[in-house]
Amino acid sequence: MDTLPAQNPKAHHNFTVDSINLLASTPPKHVSGPLSAVFGSASGFPELQFFLEPDGQHSINFDLRTTQLFKLGELQSLCVSEGSEIVKEKTYSKGITIQFKEEEESSSFHGAFEQWKSDVTIQGSTLPNGTISSSKSKFDDKIESSSAKMYFHYYGQLLHQQNMLQDYVRTGSYYAAVMENQADFAGRVVVDVGAGSGILSLFAAQAGAKHVYAVEASEMADYAQKLIAGNPILGQRITVIKGKVEDVELPEKADILISEPMGTLLVNERMLESYVIARDRFLVPNGKMFPTVGRIHMAPFSDEYLYVEVANKALFWQQQNYYGVDLTALHGTAFQGYFSQPVVDAFDPRLLVAPAVSHVINFTTIKEEDLYEIDVPLKFSASVGTRVHGLACWFDVLFNGSTVQRWLTTAPGAPTTHWYQLRCVLSQPIYVMPGQEITGRLHMIAHSAQSYTINLTMSAKMWGPGAEQGGILQTSSCRLDLKEPYYRMSQPQAYSVAQDQQPNQLLQSQDLQLPSLDDDGSDFIQPPSNDSTVHIH
Ligand code: SAH
Repeated sequence: MDTLPAQNPKAHHNFTVDSINLLASTPPKHVSGPLSAVFGSASGFPELQFFLEPDGQHSINFDLRTTQLFKLGELQSLCVSEGSEIVKEKTYSKGITIQFKEEEESSSFHGAFEQWKSDVTIQGSTLPNGTISSSKSKFDDKIESSSAKMYFHYYGQLLHQQNMLQDYVRTGSYYAAVMENQADFAGRVVVDVGAGSGILSLFAAQAGAKHVYAVEASEMADYAQKLIAGNPILGQRITVIKGKVEDVELPEKADILISEPMGTLLVNERMLESYVIARDRFLVPNGKMFPTVGRIHMAPFSDEYLYVEVANKALFWQQQNYYGVDLTALHGTAFQGYFSQPVVDAFDPRLLVAPAVSHVINFTTIKEEDLYEIDVPLKFSASVGTRVHGLACWFDVLFNGSTVQRWLTTAPGAPTTHWYQLRCVLSQPIYVMPGQEITGRLHMIAHSAQSYTINLTMSAKMWGPGAEQGGILQTSSCRLDLKEPYYRMSQPQAYSVAQDQQPNQLLQSQDLQLPSLDDDGSDFIQPPSNDSTVHIH
């Protein structure tokens, strides 16, 4: 995406002021003019310079990203700024009062200030030396531009941000994790990776962050700027930067990153890669990351009703006389097509037929490239005799705070989130006896449309007559596209579904046993135990 800071040619950049008072010097120093005040971005960020002498040798510079301007009277204004490391000066605040000669000059100065300050949000792609990056970024190299365009268009809309904000499990967990761990934020520099509406930046500021850089690539950056301006006490410590974390430059390193990069099955949208790139670009060595760790959990499930529902979608293509046309030639293709869609909904944890295995992704150490391919060997022990219809998956993330460790879980049975859970349905179910081993592999390969191709294989030894002679496997495989899920929720409401869910008739008739899950899902907040297969990067 080219996000060049096309400066508004209408915005004046040169003004004359009558005099200024330097408030930070003791005693306050008066410099009488006429002096020139110039807006520009030659240093790679928008700034305002007051030239104290006509030769342009001495100037006072304000970094507009951290500067505020107040009108004290018709001809007088106050300009204050936090110190910035970019100007390689002191890092304490500075302020001046500005005296204009004419009201007109004063008001057009204020107009220009607003204009240049709003351009702050599009400075992301300007490099510190003022040159503009024309090379394709790491993001553009691996992601199709049509996919990226749709993706950022989606997140540029307030309704989708609202949907996430209204997921109170999600947003509440972030709020709690930040507030319980204020020690990790107070006085620290924070980067909000993919800031969206800016909510996490505002939380970080509430927790006492010294400064927050809210990086957001979509048009939402402009709304974030508005929301932050509407909360001035917090907002004065937040700078919105419009651009991709892969591309933008920040004036200083961060002590802690905060982000919500999780998609369906944790990895959908491939934003974890951006989170890791942001870590490598912006975080100080041993800096913190909120969240710190993510885990994908997987377990076989039995759900006759879901299986029949998916299989029946292709029945249409079994008609031999559809307006005189035989459709059956496409039945096989349609059947496979429906089974290539992962099913997204909230299901009853009693549908699980074996304890879950986990795959751990440590955000603080994983290499970006290690997310291109995720390969998880599967090994389960069936707790009941049943037909296994596929693999159920969900995830959780850990905020490893210095004070409190908090997990945000999307497990079945836990309060439902807008991520729900995900199930890969096998077109050919497999039969298992109680205690029987189920093996397999979940192999996910990232693709350029910001998602993954999933290859799932599940196997179990054949049972019944001749089983002792052994060796004969029933194996079932499927290939799914994580980008094309089947949203099974009739109403995309994250909060009422779990409570409203009726007990599944089929479940009762199959007499499934309860797997060892606590009602509150607390099993999932334990560190991985030895009896589950865990792969740590
Ligand atoms: N932090 C917000 C929004 C989370 S959604 C919240 O918790 O409510 C993820 C956001 O990250 C989206 O707004 C998306 O546009 C942004 N995003 C995704 N990839 C990005 C990238 N590479 N650089 C900058 N922003 C990105």
